[in-house]
Formats: sequence, C-alpha cells, structure tokens
Amino acid sequence: MSVLDSFNAPGGLLQVGGLPLARLAQRAGQTPFFVYDRSKLTERVRLLRQMLAPSIRIHYSIKANPMPALIHHMSTLVDGFDVASAGEMRMALDTGMAASHISMAGPGKSDQDLRGAVGAGVTVTLESQFQLEAVERIGRELGVTPRVALRINPDFQPVNSGMRMGGGARQFGVDAEKAPAMLRDIADRALRFVGFHVFWGSQCLDSRTVIAAQRHVAELVSQLADLAQDLEFVNMGGGFGIPYFDNEHTLDVGAVGAAMQDWVEPLRQRLPGTRLVLEFGRYLVGEAGLYVCRVVDKKVSRGETFLVTDGGLHHHLAASGNFGQVLRRNFPVAIGNRMGGENLERCHVVGCLCTPLDRLADDVTLPAAQIGDYVIVGQSGAYARSASPADFLSHPQPVEILA
Ligand SMILES: *Cc1c(COP(=O)(O)O)cnc(C)c1O
Repeated sequence: MSVLDSFNAPGGLLQVGGLPLARLAQRAGQTPFFVYDRSKLTERVRLLRQMLAPSIRIHYSIKANPMPALIHHMSTLVDGFDVASAGEMRMALDTGMAASHISMAGPGKSDQDLRGAVGAGVTVTLESQFQLEAVERIGRELGVTPRVALRINPDFQPVNSGMRMGGGARQFGVDAEKAPAMLRDIADRALRFVGFHVFWGSQCLDSRTVIAAQRHVAELVSQLADLAQDLEFVNMGGGFGIPYFDNEHTLDVGAVGAAMQDWVEPLRQRLPGTRLVLEFGRYLVGEAGLYVCRVVDKKVSRGETFLVTDGGLHHHLAASGNFGQVLRRNFPVAIGNRMGGENLERCHVVGCLCTPLDRLADDVTLPAAQIGDYVIVGQSGAYARSASPADFLSHPQPVEILA
C-alpha cells in the first residue's frame, strides 16, 4: 500500500494536488476518472536529474500517457519528446517543444506519419531500408532535407528486463551488424543524419541490468561514431521500471547514476557537442496517476465478496492483468474514502463488463466498502487509459484531470 500512501494527507484523506477525493470527483464530473498529480511529475523529473549525470538530457515518450495537459506540463520539465505517430507528433509540437528535440520512432510508420515528420522538421528514427528510401523520396517531394536518426537493434540481450525490445530478432530498428552499411548508404543520400537511437528494453527494476545495458550501448555507439560526423544526439534508450506488484521493489536509480560516470565522460570526449539522451515513459508519469471508480454493487457469491465498480478493463486494461502480464497480479488498490480504515474484509474488486477478465483486484483485504465508495487503483499514470479498449461494451469514456 506504500505507493498509495504517498497520496495520503494527514487524517487518512486521499488527496491529489491539495484536493480531496470528493472535490476531484466534482472536477471530473463523473466516475470513473483518472487523476494525474502535477507536483509528483515535477518532483520526479527534478529527482531524476539530481541522480543522473548532469549532462544527460531527458526525453518523455508520449505513448506512456498522451493526455494533452500532461504533455504540456512535461514540456516544461524535459528536454525533448519521443513520439510514435503523426498524432502524437502534433500534440508534441502543440506544446511549443522545438521540432529538433522531437523524434519519431516506430516499426510501421505510414507515409502520412513520415510526411508529417519531414515537413515539420521532426527527426525520423529510421528502422528499415524501406523507411530510409521512403523518407528520402518524401524529402524530395517536399523540397526539404529530412533529419534522420538510425535506430539500432543492439547485439546484446538485457538479462533481466521486464520487456525486451532489443537483442535477437526484432521488428524494431536495424540490426547492429547492418548499421555500418546503412550509415554509408544514408551518407550518399539527400538526408541529414543527426543521431543514433538504441532502445534495449522496458520496465526494468534491476539496476545491474540497466548499468550493463548502458555500458553496452555506449560501447556500440563509440564503435559506430567514426561512420557519422556531427552527431546532434545519441538516444541511449531508457528502460527504467516502476514497481506495480507487492513483490517488486523500486529501481536503484542512484546506483545507475553513479555507474554512469564510467561512460559519460569518455563518450562525451569521443562525441564532443553531441547530446546524450535517455528516454522515459512510465518512470516519469506512471506513479503520478490514479484511476478512480465507484462501488456500484456489493454481493456475496458462495462465501466470497465481490465489489462491483463502474470502472473496468475498458479503461484500465493493465490493471485487469490483460496487458502483457503472464501471471495476473494486483495493482495497488485502496478504498479512497477509507484510507485509514480498520474493519478489514477480503474481497474481489471487479469491473462492470460482462467478461470474467474484467477484474481490478483478486482476493485483496480492504476496509469493508459500501456502495458509493471510491475504489482507487495506483500506478495508473502510464499505459492505462490510452492502452485500453474504451469502446468495448459502449460504456462512457473515463475523464482525465491534471491536479
Ligand atoms: C515505449 C517506448 C519507450 C517508453 O518506455 P517506458 O517503459 O514507458 O519507459 C521509450 N522508447 C521507445 C522507443 C519506446 O517504444
């Protein structure tokens, strides 16, 4: 429950941005809603900068949470954005972030995505020979020289990462061994080569794995640096995870920051004037978000208590366990209006959809809830609303607020 405790004001009242739950619900105008804590976002970036080497630039990966007000707030905190579609790119540009600090990655960029990026001066992160040729053609058609980076599928496998996105055979990026030939090809074309992008994994809670991955990436980039002049940036990936479940612990970012001393200065000397970038999604926003729904029914079935809510997997697929989890485990949950509560009760918290997959918490012990109480799901700031099948069963959309 420690994650949700950080939203607790004295007296056991849950608050976000100084507003108690009832006021938040009033602002949202309905349940279910998501609320993101502005001060937690600010604080997270401040702490991260303190722990990492001072020369490291921090980018936010918009796909973790594309709420416009949140992106706007992030634009005041971070050094750049990573986008995965023309739609995300427009939202990134709307904040006033310079196009040269936005890059577009993704294995299946459409002609429309590429046209948008090339036209706006956003960096296109090339992930295949086909993309390379398409970008050059689009640049010629638009009469501009596209800014391109090369995404490299590294030749190492992070041993202990929640989600591997590099090493082995992947749909992402270009295999490291093919990079030299591709760089020579890029140099012969009407393209402006500005950077490397190496993304090795996601949701990693083991500092030793992150440290090893960063060292590998630094080595890989040093080896390729002779083939590319005047690099503007090297995006070394991110991968920092957050704890979702009881048995998980927080990533030791202090250890990662300390170990960076080994490669940051040598790499900066090897690549003078090149920005070293780390990109993060969930690490920046995941812990700042809560999902709030209400108990609409309470029933007992063969001795087990069910709290039925007006929320569910159509808003929060990840909390239901259906967004990539192998073993279903519970996100942190609480009864928001009984935070200090005694009178505990074992129950299941379920959503309102007609499918047994729609579970928010299995077999949890919570203060005995009544119909009308608020159910809070923590760690809901990333891959929640935008990663959920909101049309399934045609219930109302959730509201999102930044407080
Ligand atoms: C999704 C993604 C991220 C963000 O991952 P998190 O686990 O949310 O930090 C960063 N970079 C790329 C290329 C991605 O696809």
